[in-house]
Amino acid sequence: MKFGPVVHFTWACATLSSLVMLGCAGSHSASSESGIYVYPAVSRCGTETPSREVRAEVERDLAQSRQVYFHSTLRIPIYVHVIRKDYGVENGDVSELQIRHQVNYLNQVFARSTQSGTVVFQFAVASIDRTTNATWYQFGVDDLGQDAMKYALHKGTARDLNLYINGMNNGHYGWSTFPWSYQASPLRDGVVILNGSMPGGSAAPNNLGNTLVHEVGHWLGLYHTFEGGCSTSAGDYVSDTPAEATAAQGCPVGRDSCTGSQFPGVDPIDNFMDYSDDGCMTRFTAGQIDRMVSSYSLYRENR
Ligand SMILES: [Zn+2]
Repeated sequence: MKFGPVVHFTWACATLSSLVMLGCAGSHSASSESGIYVYPAVSRCGTETPSREVRAEVERDLAQSRQVYFHSTLRIPIYVHVIRKDYGVENGDVSELQIRHQVNYLNQVFARSTQSGTVVFQFAVASIDRTTNATWYQFGVDDLGQDAMKYALHKGTARDLNLYINGMNNGHYGWSTFPWSYQASPLRDGVVILNGSMPGGSAAPNNLGNTLVHEVGHWLGLYHTFEGGCSTSAGDYVSDTPAEATAAQGCPVGRDSCTGSQFPGVDPIDNFMDYSDDGCMTRFTAGQIDRMVSSYSLYRENR
């Protein structure tokens, strides 16, 4: 995999995370102030953390039915829904080749993410449809109208990934539903990504395809690595991802935001479930793979 250049960034957004609504979030593109690039990484994912009650229930269910070892690869069909403003790549009409590059990249990542030597997930494009709709093109996670889009286009079952590709205008690069939400809202299930986040897209430095990898992580039951901050009890419920106080931005190698003997290890800024730049993200941990397999098994396989 070829990584993009490490970008310069400032901690303005990280240190002023409480001011997200005042302007750190809100743009896909880099802006320049005094020659220093500011990337709005704080907001790169719009996936909403479930309530404490839901999280507790999920952990109880997963603990009771944990199925860790798979002996064959789980194959996941992807129904791709391209939302465009008009014809032409400049209007979000991404090419079939670009979609295949994105899915190939997703498969490369999961080919490295094995359990007991077996590749656990493999994805394949099942169909591609294209819808011209300027309103749907702009939908972000907070737009209630997205239900109409999903209800109209959704295909398949809990085992199928519905991937919507649009030009969301709210500063995020993508968002996803969690597997435990499927039963109550099957037609809302799926992942939405910004078209520019796909390999070769316009959202540099986050245009290597890791937005989809990150969102598929959510779709298979993962939380952000910084969930819960410096917590020894909950966090992302994965034991081999060190606790992290806040989302990482750029590529702060060696950052250690949760210190003390109860928080061993530096921040997992190279993890796909952080907010680092695409070129900085390289791995899921074994614990995350186990959690994805367990979540798939419990909430998707037989639904
Ligand atoms: Zn996320």
